[in-house]
Amino acid sequence: MLSRALIFLALAAHSFAAVQVAFTVSMQNPSAHTFHVRMRCEGLRAPLEDFQMPQWSTGYYGIMNFSRYVSNFRATDGAGRALVWDKTARNTWRVVSGNSPAILLEYDVFGATAFSASNYLGEDRAFLSPAGLFVHPSGILDVPVTLELETPPALSNKPHISTGLDPVNGKASTFSAPNFDVLYDCPILIGSHERLMFEVRGVPHYVAVENVPASVSRMQMTADLKAIVTAATNIFGEAPYRHYTFLMMGRGGGGIEHSNSSANQFDGESLTKPAGYLRWLSFIAHEYFHNFNVKRIRPLALGPFDYDQENLTDLLWVSEGISVYYQDLLLVRAGLMSREQYLDKMAAAIAVFENAPGRNYQSATESSLNTWSSGSGVAGDRNTTISYYNNGAMLGAMLELNIRAASANRRSLDDVMRGLYRKYYVQQKRGFTAAEFRTECETAAGAPLGEVFEYASTSREVDYARHFALAGLRLDMTSAPTDGGYIGLHTSTREVPPSELPLPTPGRGGGGRGGAPVFRLIVTDTAPGSPAANAALQAGDVVISVDGTPASASVLQKTIESKPASIKLRIARHGDEQDVTVQVAPNFKRSYRFTESTELGLKRSILEGWLRREGNQEP
Ligand SMILES: [Zn+2]
Repeated sequence: MLSRALIFLALAAHSFAAVQVAFTVSMQNPSAHTFHVRMRCEGLRAPLEDFQMPQWSTGYYGIMNFSRYVSNFRATDGAGRALVWDKTARNTWRVVSGNSPAILLEYDVFGATAFSASNYLGEDRAFLSPAGLFVHPSGILDVPVTLELETPPALSNKPHISTGLDPVNGKASTFSAPNFDVLYDCPILIGSHERLMFEVRGVPHYVAVENVPASVSRMQMTADLKAIVTAATNIFGEAPYRHYTFLMMGRGGGGIEHSNSSANQFDGESLTKPAGYLRWLSFIAHEYFHNFNVKRIRPLALGPFDYDQENLTDLLWVSEGISVYYQDLLLVRAGLMSREQYLDKMAAAIAVFENAPGRNYQSATESSLNTWSSGSGVAGDRNTTISYYNNGAMLGAMLELNIRAASANRRSLDDVMRGLYRKYYVQQKRGFTAAEFRTECETAAGAPLGEVFEYASTSREVDYARHFALAGLRLDMTSAPTDGGYIGLHTSTREVPPSELPLPTPGRGGGGRGGAPVFRLIVTDTAPGSPAANAALQAGDVVISVDGTPASASVLQKTIESKPASIKLRIARHGDEQDVTVQVAPNFKRSYRFTESTELGLKRSILEGWLRREGNQEP
């Protein structure tokens, strides 16, 4: 065994400049769903080399533990001699390379999950999710990579290969990436899919279509995608890639964005109906807009990536939520969605958000931070959590309308996105902080936007009507009785800092300093006139127990749902404990509807500027 110091020296001895990596993936055994990967590394020249497989794939905020699918790992030197290796972490292989100028690795990867972040190999198609297929020399991501694909035998008669990677001229089925970040960001679809193409700003956009019935017009699909790309690139004045590939895949649902491609899974049959087709356009516009918002306009935590662990950020409500906002706005600008359809969808989104009790317990920033444990914010318990997708459209619209109103309709959220793009992506080549995002919004408005940012960071009751009135829109709410009870209490669950915890008691597990994290349920707000407000509960109160049971968001929610006449909360206020009885009122399900006012003036021009149709003109 080598000492730690010697290992460190050995691992630190790299000179990256001359390192070259070439992969070959063969797919000769599709019935076993097994890829065979060969990797040739030249120029590493250290006695020990660590090779790592990412733990996650960008765009999908969950630990995938890809290395569990790897088997039959082997290492040899340039002369074919076997090299000793050891597994030093679940995703790390340490090879005793003995300064060999070349290292060859071979391994199998099992891929049987049809999902846009997972590998899949079958008789008729393959989907390569590179983060789950390719290892990199530990700490060395910035080296050029080539990739040769030996496609499945059944497809060897001219398979179609669709990917954001650059093809290598003169070499069939061979691609290159300037570094591992690009390789990991370029999924590859192989099969007999159709391929469509259109250009925007002289840049080619390819569309790989696997699963859409022939009755859906290809000309229409191409024209509509082109209109979406035109509307998005018009915001920024450029298409920031040399080519873009839409992967339209079947067998599942969900999409993942990349810098110059997107992997989109959906039910192709749904495109045969107008409503399904419009939903599809909205979904594709979302994944496409991400090439700007999250891949380039991004929070600091989202690139450069640490592929070895969670990359936490409280700004997914911006990266995801504001992409939800833009997905439909782009359709309006492109003439694919009417203003009425847009406002109806916004009203429906408000209803979904307002009717789920999770909004009382979690903010968009908290939901962003929690996504790595709850799974991209989509799943999860809607009784006590929210999805940062859910209220993204409303937060985006409220930023938009406040910026327009404060600047006499001279500035909009487009200016914010463009400003972030130029300042942080183009000029400073980095992500931004939450404070920098807010500054960009408030600079565009020329006024503070504290209330909208408070909606994002707390569970405070949202005064939608007042914000949408800035565009002359009237929001009517109707409510009908429904199951469960209501108290109008907004809370937040916060981890107690270890310094505030008692020292652990010997022999007892659970909480305490050094033990499992301890959480507090804290009142953030009460709805005006609600039972919680009538009981004089205050922001900052710590809820200790609910009818005698230790408090948590789900205990409180379940107790309210059971609809007792009242509940007893034990709370701590400024360190003093007391009991508070809160009456439980009947619960109401709310629905919303927008009406345009007929008045002219600034409000009218805000509405016209916001929901304008642009007519698909490229400059
Ligand atoms: Zn998204």
